[in-house]
Amino acid sequence: MKIKEGLTFDDVLLVPKYSDVTSRKNVDLSVDLGKGVKLKIPVISANMKTVTGHDMAVKIDRLGGLPIMHRFYNSLEEQVNAFADMIVAGVKNVGVSIGVGRPGHDAFHALAEMGATIFCLDIAHADSESAVKLIKHVSKALPQALLIAGNVATTSGAQRLADAGADIIKVGVGPGSLCTTRIETGNGVPSLTALDDVYEQSRFGEKFKIIADGGLKNSGDITKALVFSHAVMLGNLLAGTHESPGTEYTLDGKKYKEYAGSSTYKTNHVEGVVGSVPYKGHVENVIIKLMEGLRSGCSYQGVHNLEDLKKDPEFVSITNVGLIESKPHDVILGK
Ligand code: IMP
Repeated sequence: MKIKEGLTFDDVLLVPKYSDVTSRKNVDLSVDLGKGVKLKIPVISANMKTVTGHDMAVKIDRLGGLPIMHRFYNSLEEQVNAFADMIVAGVKNVGVSIGVGRPGHDAFHALAEMGATIFCLDIAHADSESAVKLIKHVSKALPQALLIAGNVATTSGAQRLADAGADIIKVGVGPGSLCTTRIETGNGVPSLTALDDVYEQSRFGEKFKIIADGGLKNSGDITKALVFSHAVMLGNLLAGTHESPGTEYTLDGKKYKEYAGSSTYKTNHVEGVVGSVPYKGHVENVIIKLMEGLRSGCSYQGVHNLEDLKKDPEFVSITNVGLIESKPHDVILGK
């Protein structure tokens, strides 16, 4: 048996390069996801009940990202109405989520009938017969739709979903901030290695795009992820904002918002937790800060856009001591 090394965001740093970027404002963060879906920023709000509801969807779309509505409504009718509310709100790009089996099939048809054109088939282990079956059905029934499918963490899994008809593969098994999959099941692949593997695969054979999903803690992680992906899906980073649907509460004078793993709405084996995150104010301020960091990351790499970020990256792996050095240290923070 050969055990492969798996690395994630904090295990590596991008090695800086010669740069002719004079102002980070000039770095273009736009991305073309295909099938007419063009984003100004490579940000997708996670299709979680405590992240993407009405207000988050409207804001993320206006900011130039892609909101994906969750699928944990009390009924299909409620889910369809939530999507119809998006039409009323004049949202340009919005995705809807579907599961597998009969419920996924029915949700797809009901949402397609209402005019949905961006679908996210989203299950914990998408390298599965049930996911492949539904992807084939959706891509045949509505070939003009943009079909995102995941999550997977392997080249073979990603290729299987792309071969079935998925346009974009969502990568990440177990990195989510409230995910317990790796602990509960012993399965998963550290994010950066999973992305690196799948990105290599995406350049050969049937082409597909990649969304890096889960475990992104800051703009540095976003920059690293976009070396191997076309957009990032954010849960935790957006969960505490004013626009997230989570319940808000105050404890010891500090504001928090509830953030819950999607699997916690299930009654069978649960691989996630319910928790809270600090309140972060309006989502536009969070996104502006993250995109400033990403632009700066591109300028250290000497690239003017996200395609060039992928061209010739060099990473250095770091030790735990290196990680300590990377963060503020030997100071008492604050004034
Ligand atoms: P975060 O940004 O690190 O919080 O990760 C968000 C991602 O975690 C989501 O987009 C999902 O892929 C994943 N996720 C959401 N709920 C659960 C869960 O209950 N168990 C495992 N993973 C989850």
